[in-house]
Amino acid sequence: MSQPEANKEEVWRSILAQIQLTVSPAIFATWFKLTQIISMENGEVVIAVPNCLAKEWLEQKYRKQAIGFLREFDPSIREVFFKVRQIAAAKPEKTRAAAIPAGQLDFEEFKFNKETNLNPKYRFDRFIVGPHNELAHAAALAAAEKPGQTYNPLFIYGGVGLGKTHLLQAIGNEVAARCPREKIRYVPTEKLTTEIINAIRGGTIQDLRAKYLDTAVFIIDDIQLISGKDRTQDEFFYIFNTLHNKNLQIILSSDRPPKAITELSDRLRSRFEGGMIADVSLPDFETRMAILKEKCQQLKFTVSDEILSIIAQTIQNNVRELEGALIKVAATAKIKNHPVSADFCREILLSINPKKVINFKKILQETANFYELKEKDIISDSRKKEIVTPRQVVMYLLRNEINASFPFIGRKMGNKDHTTVMHAYKKISTKIKDDNSFSEEIGLLKNKIYNS
Ligand code: ADP
Ligand code: MG
Repeated sequence: MSQPEANKEEVWRSILAQIQLTVSPAIFATWFKLTQIISMENGEVVIAVPNCLAKEWLEQKYRKQAIGFLREFDPSIREVFFKVRQIAAAKPEKTRAAAIPAGQLDFEEFKFNKETNLNPKYRFDRFIVGPHNELAHAAALAAAEKPGQTYNPLFIYGGVGLGKTHLLQAIGNEVAARCPREKIRYVPTEKLTTEIINAIRGGTIQDLRAKYLDTAVFIIDDIQLISGKDRTQDEFFYIFNTLHNKNLQIILSSDRPPKAITELSDRLRSRFEGGMIADVSLPDFETRMAILKEKCQQLKFTVSDEILSIIAQTIQNNVRELEGALIKVAATAKIKNHPVSADFCREILLSINPKKVINFKKILQETANFYELKEKDIISDSRKKEIVTPRQVVMYLLRNEINASFPFIGRKMGNKDHTTVMHAYKKISTKIKDDNSFSEEIGLLKNKIYNS
């Protein structure tokens, strides 16, 4: 099947929009920015790339993913080829922006600031605040208003795709807008590690220190990755202390709190704990709706609340995936020139990562793993306390996560009466409300169920 001319560009653009959500801005700008689709015929797609290096890299790392995405639009696609070809230089900013018609996806990723390494799209006014991130947001605002004076360091932690990078960069962008002369640096931990190792090897550690030592706002993302890297930790400790002693602002993010980062030196851990620690957790339904609405505005995509609520109900655990689903719905609607109906939307959502479908088996299996029990014990009639609670948790999750009916749950759980299930559901719901550490435990289990 061959696609009309305008269509294939749309397809590639929407695939780039999805890839953009899964890679760092630097990777995107280096490898994807200058690609173009040349043809899409007879099940074969040809993508133009600017040089051999890009060709090799994309073939090795992204061929499969690209085929996967392309097949969602056209199941007959079998292969992708990358061809080195001179690609027309990007037009100057102004004309390029003007040339993008409303409704098309623009890549702000292109515009990240080379010096600060900040992406201008991550701003406070595009960040939706809900009960799950209120504290982290307030702390971030305070740090942006008075860098170095309120919370230092500011340590923000939480699961994947929950807005940590957005919040960190919003602080940087806010300070940059207000005080353009301040030195601000955003550095992913992988990059910092590479820089430090290279500097140690090349004997240029003084240059590296000079590069960072007078940074007014120093932002380090995903600091948990420093775990086990002793040389990097030593050098980072030095940089951290020097900045901290000068009251310069340090901001860190991590996928877990400092106490849970393994192979971290005690002195760094205590530094991380010495300022403000705030977490971001899972957004509730209303917040997910608000986030989707914000993203619609950015995409210039208009769609009914009904459709948004289907997306918000389906994708609950990761804002990046929430955004990815919306982009896919927007792009598919546009490419297929298909009005977005509820069924159509569900169909698209189903095609996203079908492996992630949560069912009875998955919930039972992960809960058993989590509590180190056998599945058959959970389903048994045992009254042992260490089994009863996990069993009730499974019942609760079946109800909450896949909306199973009480009688259905009873049958699946070893032919128990539906009143038993209702009792379990109530008990676990109450315990989650009343007991913080239990609620955290269930959150962790849910994260395992959805992300393993
Ligand atoms: P993390 O760093 O925690 O893995 P990111 O900050 O990269 O997550 O967020 C993933 C995506 O979700 C980003 O595109 C970000 O803009 C978006 N996002 C996350 N939380 C929010 C929010 N509260 N409001 C608006 N967008 C959000
Ligand atoms: Mg991040």
